[in-house]
Amino acid sequence: MKVLHNHLCSLCNTTKTCFVFTDFEALFSCCKECSEELEQNLSFAEECEDNCSLCGAYKKVKSVEFEDSLFFSDFKICNRCNLHLKLLIESQEEVE
Ligand SMILES: [Zn+2]
Ligand SMILES: [Zn+2]
Repeated sequence: MKVLHNHLCSLCNTTKTCFVFTDFEALFSCCKECSEELEQNLSFAEECEDNCSLCGAYKKVKSVEFEDSLFFSDFKICNRCNLHLKLLIESQEEVE
C-alpha cells in the first residue's frame, strides 16, 4: 500500500491524499475520512452473502453505501479483507 497525494478516492470520488491499495483484486484507494467512515459503518452493518468488492469472492460480507462513489456505491467487504485493510492502514499510521 502507498499513500499518494492528489489521488482519486474510490469511495467519495474526491481528489485528495489517499491510501492506495495494491494488495487486492480490485484497484482500490480511499482517503482517511472514508476509511474512518467505513470502519464506523461496518461496525453496525448487517452481514449478508455476496461478492466482496475487494477480493471478488462470494462469501459473508458487510455492505456500506457510498453515494458519491463511481464503482463502489455499494461497497461490500469480507472479514478477511477488512482485517487486512485495517492492518495496512494501522501500519501506515505508525510510520507517519
Ligand atoms: Zn474518500
Ligand atoms: Zn474480500
